[in-house]
Amino acid sequence: MQPKILIIEDETDINQLLAKILEADGCRAVQAFSGTEGLLLAEKESPDLILLDLMLPGLSGEALLQKLRTEKNCRVPVLVLSAKAALSDKVTLLKAGADDYITKPFEPEEVSARVQAALRRSGSVPEQAGTLSYKDMVLYPESRKVTVNGTELSLTSHEYALLHLFLQAPEKVYSRESLYELVWQNGYYGENNTVNVHVSNLRRKIKEAGASEEYIRTVYGIGFQLK
Ligand code: CA
Repeated sequence: MQPKILIIEDETDINQLLAKILEADGCRAVQAFSGTEGLLLAEKESPDLILLDLMLPGLSGEALLQKLRTEKNCRVPVLVLSAKAALSDKVTLLKAGADDYITKPFEPEEVSARVQAALRRSGSVPEQAGTLSYKDMVLYPESRKVTVNGTELSLTSHEYALLHLFLQAPEKVYSRESLYELVWQNGYYGENNTVNVHVSNLRRKIKEAGASEEYIRTVYGIGFQLK
């Protein structure tokens, strides 16, 4: 099922850009260019999620959100988009019933990741069978794909296999020898540096994908684990 996303944004360029980002993710975008049109479509289209700009002509985003939550008793997830970055605004909006907050200017990857996360939380996107996740990392076994914050990592098959092992047991500490045996499946590890090299490449790729923290921890004298 294609999730339906209602975009309420008066700036045409931004509205179109958002629609493009969402459609590339397999969503159906419905576009509204004013608060009143947005409110109308929110009722008529029953979207799975609403992306809501705050600075709208006529009915403001704040007023629209309040109407949805109180008058219309509408529980659809709402992600607010706004240049207003002040924390007080965020808190007020979250209290008013917004589910998340994206500040402008935004990166397409951020919109994509936050929309997917909100859809997963609300149950609009079923988890793929066997999907493994840890913090902001998600592994999709069917497509052999791993994402961090919604950004796909470009992995070799050995790197994928290492992450698959780690994500299956995030607490487990793997020795270099056992990782070598499990992933390369050709016996004696010896003085081989292969595992270290692959782990450092993985760390680099995870970092380049925009991860805000380390994912693979060195356990001195033993090996590696997720952290
Ligand atoms: Ca605006």
